[in-house]
Amino acid sequence: MEKNHMSGMLDHLKTRISQSGAITVADYMFECLTNPEHGYYVHNEPFGIFGDFVTAPEISQVFGELMGLWAVHQWHAMGKPKLFNLIELGPGRGTLMSDALRVANGLPEFIAGLNLHLVETSHRLCNIQKQALAQFKPTWHNDISSLPDGPTIVIANEFFDALPIHQLEYTGNGWLERRVAVIHGQLAFTLWPLQFPIDAHVSLTSRQPSVGDIFEISPESCKIISELASRFNSQSGYGLFIDYGHSRSGYGDTLQAVKAHAYADVLMNPGDSDLTAHVDFGALSKAATTAGAIAYGVKLQSQFLKLLGINERTDALSAQATPDQLVQLNSGRDRLIMDDQMGSLFKVLAIVDPDLPPPSGF
Ligand code: SAH
Repeated sequence: MEKNHMSGMLDHLKTRISQSGAITVADYMFECLTNPEHGYYVHNEPFGIFGDFVTAPEISQVFGELMGLWAVHQWHAMGKPKLFNLIELGPGRGTLMSDALRVANGLPEFIAGLNLHLVETSHRLCNIQKQALAQFKPTWHNDISSLPDGPTIVIANEFFDALPIHQLEYTGNGWLERRVAVIHGQLAFTLWPLQFPIDAHVSLTSRQPSVGDIFEISPESCKIISELASRFNSQSGYGLFIDYGHSRSGYGDTLQAVKAHAYADVLMNPGDSDLTAHVDFGALSKAATTAGAIAYGVKLQSQFLKLLGINERTDALSAQATPDQLVQLNSGRDRLIMDDQMGSLFKVLAIVDPDLPPPSGF
């Protein structure tokens, strides 16, 4: 069955390419991840030791708990609105939000006022989120366009790395776009004339490109940040975005496929491995400020979590933990904050309504 679904995706891509020509890396990523019949998130259970990768909320409950404290702090900073939206983009198994709301449960006013909104494309994951978060009666959205107005707190962990990127390659004669073609019956990269101007994007980098340099852009990510930022400019709001990536725009090919905790070829077995790219936080910050919000950060995950109290919270839980739990709590904490693990590869950006005070942890 696994094999049928994989070759179904390959056949689908080959048909699409034979009909309309080589597709952009962005279209390739989008198809591989979210195609409703063959997409990765639609079929696979990506999370956990038996899955393909482990995310921060699945590593330690403390991660989601700290996000809950952060949300409560920002709700206070907004003047404790009687009704507000708590929004998560790409909630996965719902673990972050259920840990966050467990700690917030001690605050009846916060719980009574919150409207929980989840932005998720995978029906399979929506069902898992439904079980994890039923008591908070969430509303699901396919994208951010249907989110309601009003004071808002947005959280997203490892969401932007899954959004499509375009890859541009510098040649002696300027920039071309990398596309996915079928060559001798196999998927292969090819170069194609650019369909959009690139100057504004590349001007974010600090050096002139050399032949072969790759520059990645994610118009979809920038559009989401820009829409949230302009919303925060007219309505009260805080947004928190955590992901792996770089603080400043630069050159490099970061498209990667991961299957069973190991890197795979990005063009092999489409739809069967997770496909991500590093997030360009420089570009996201610029999109946010251009749209009228204030961008805070970009901070290293280790700094951010320490400021929020990861050590204190882990110690407090450790005091009542069994020996097994103690090992898990400490190794989880280390994984999240050690520089050779997730501590410095992962970055944190906050975007904020300019009339509101700086967010906690920045
Ligand atoms: N935040 C979770 C899951 C990260 S995986 C965690 O930290 O564990 C990425 C999540 O984003 C998945 O839930 C996936 O289904 C969702 N997703 C991917 N592309 C999306 C898109 N274009 N729109 C909405 N959700 C998307």
